[in-house]
Amino acid sequence: MTDYNAIADSPVVRESPSQEITEGKYRILFVDDERNILQASKRIFRKESRYIIDTAASGQEALAMMSGEKYHLVISDNKMPGMVGVELLAQIRDRYPDTIRIMLTGDSDDQAVMGAVKEGAVYRFILKPWNTEDLKATVALALEQYELIQKNKTLQDELGSQSNRQKALDKLSLSTRSRLGELLHSHGLLSEAQIEELNTLRQNRKTSVLKLLLERGWVPESTIYQVLEQETTVESVALPQLQVDPQVTSLIPGQFCERQMVLPLKMLGKRCLLLAVADPTDHELIDDLRFISGLEIHPVLVKVTDIQSKIAAVYGEKQGLQPAQNLVTVMSPSPDAAEPIEVVIEEDEDISLERLLRSTKEPSVIELLNALILEAVQHNASDIHIQPREKIVVVRCRIDGVLVDKIKIPSNYHPALVSRIKIMAELDIAERRRPQDGRITIKTPVKIVDMRISIIPTINGEKVVMRLLDRNAPIFELAALGFSAVNLDRILNLVSIPQGIILATGPTGSGKTTTLHSLLQHQVTSQKNYVTIEDPVEYYMDMASQVRVQEKIGVDFATILRATLRQDPDVILIGEIRDLETAEVAFHAALTGHQVYSTLHANSALDTVARLLDIGLKPYIVSSALTGVISQRLVRKICGQCRVSTEVAPGLLHALGPLFNTNDISFFKGQGCRKCGRSGYSGRLAVHELLILTEEVRALVAKGRSTADIQKAAKKMHFPSLLEDAVAKVHSGQTTADEIYRVLGSQIIE
Ligand SMILES: [Zn+2]
Repeated sequence: MTDYNAIADSPVVRESPSQEITEGKYRILFVDDERNILQASKRIFRKESRYIIDTAASGQEALAMMSGEKYHLVISDNKMPGMVGVELLAQIRDRYPDTIRIMLTGDSDDQAVMGAVKEGAVYRFILKPWNTEDLKATVALALEQYELIQKNKTLQDELGSQSNRQKALDKLSLSTRSRLGELLHSHGLLSEAQIEELNTLRQNRKTSVLKLLLERGWVPESTIYQVLEQETTVESVALPQLQVDPQVTSLIPGQFCERQMVLPLKMLGKRCLLLAVADPTDHELIDDLRFISGLEIHPVLVKVTDIQSKIAAVYGEKQGLQPAQNLVTVMSPSPDAAEPIEVVIEEDEDISLERLLRSTKEPSVIELLNALILEAVQHNASDIHIQPREKIVVVRCRIDGVLVDKIKIPSNYHPALVSRIKIMAELDIAERRRPQDGRITIKTPVKIVDMRISIIPTINGEKVVMRLLDRNAPIFELAALGFSAVNLDRILNLVSIPQGIILATGPTGSGKTTTLHSLLQHQVTSQKNYVTIEDPVEYYMDMASQVRVQEKIGVDFATILRATLRQDPDVILIGEIRDLETAEVAFHAALTGHQVYSTLHANSALDTVARLLDIGLKPYIVSSALTGVISQRLVRKICGQCRVSTEVAPGLLHALGPLFNTNDISFFKGQGCRKCGRSGYSGRLAVHELLILTEEVRALVAKGRSTADIQKAAKKMHFPSLLEDAVAKVHSGQTTADEIYRVLGSQIIE
């Protein structure tokens, strides 16, 4: 039986979604003097239960209606008798600034309309004649924007009250009541005379004891840290591993942090602040901060140098951006907006999987699951599989692309485990016969991870797969992706072409998205408008507006892409092209002066062209818009600590084909050491195949010539194939022949 009581007692903190979202209904007002347009608008949204649609035949009528009712969105015609749309929307802006205002107009060059856009009276305009899908998408996006603006306002209010606190903080006399001097004295590290001098100094200088000590150089910093670590109960933490929540750093001014050598790190739940301190013996300082912030303070001991460099990074960067910051918060879709579910795994939950398994007490389902997630996060796993077998449940993690058995759990745990996951992802616990999917954001002490949950019923019970997306995963530099020198050169040329489409292809999990983000990041400049459309968002990029595809509410790739094109983008990243509609819009965008990046499922760079034609694109469109294709696979890298040369079994060489079957290749392997967990591998590396659409290739594609013909041309241009790139990477000791076989399979076609 499922133990629901245990589940209900969950210590997990869940953020409640904002009120605006739970209300769920939006009131929209259409204003037009043409009755048939009003009727058409009503019809379009009739099936959308989220919207309440009202109509008004004139500006005056609209204003009258708005005085009695709150509207989230007004969509108005411009040319109307009496009050024109521009004037109506300007009045609405003044009276109801929260309402989003959209103009329907027949003429985008109309000066009055453009003026209204510039003055902020009109949020965006839709050109007549409009089509249904565009209108739907524009409305959905506008309301999303509405939520963001509301959220941002709440944030601004909070910041306002925080700035009062900041003033109080600035007035706070510098705390100089640390016990550090005495502590060091008791360890024989400071003399009586030095203590006395220290006391005089801190009276006069009003600087923290620790700072004075470091200035004098009486005791080395590392020794002070060691003494503090021994003598205080405060846990010590390596700061570089911790990420700092920018919302939280605004709680305490940078100058104060610098003087007192503290740094706010993040919130633990709603009322407790995790604070890095260099001198935890200064209890008064912590008390003062508690009083002023109104929050419980959970101090952790951090090295002085770590605090200082982090302060410089956090506050330095923030100050540089100050003027534009408000704008950025409004404009870029916050990743949180669409992520109402948040689960926090607390720092002090002592839940390592190993410890849990060794413990004599039976772990609770919550402990077990938290431990599993933490374990997966710590090993950089990309997926967790919970697979029920006949008598046992196996939990496996995909690490570096390979599934590894983690633990086996007795079957009687399984129902409770699945229920716990369903509760976290807000899925239906009672539903056990249909597939379900959901998402959760997990805050662990190490990092924030977005998880996509998928549950399918199997004959042995429900199988759960959780995909982990590291929200702060660093975007790799292009040079770090493992391109061969020749390919890297070609890629750099490719990226510098200002228009056209670049495709990354390969199976799921071959690192396509990672490559595209690196390409994007490589050329990023503030002079261009970047938009990414993804499902899900895998990398967060400050400079780009990132939109998440939500097919359940009709916001799919093609719809967002069309709406995006009206927002004057320069560079667009489309998560995936999977249908003709998306392909057509993407290629059209590439032909009209945009740089487009996307992915496609295709076996090789050459197959990609054929695949695009299969989808239904015309050869001349493909040949003129496509600039290059990167096909890739991920293989595990040989561990650098334990690499040795090796022999490879003749059978394997035979299977890998003639390229491998020569005496010119050296082979290596990892023997297995502590660093690589005895696996012989550490990290991953891509093997690539690049196709650049040179004049010659372009001409062949335009004529609809066969893949074989294009392959001949590519050979002439010396584009190495996947296998050729793989051979080079085996020979240089980066990966093994086994890995190539695992990923590319047998090369013998008989
Ligand atoms: Zn090793």
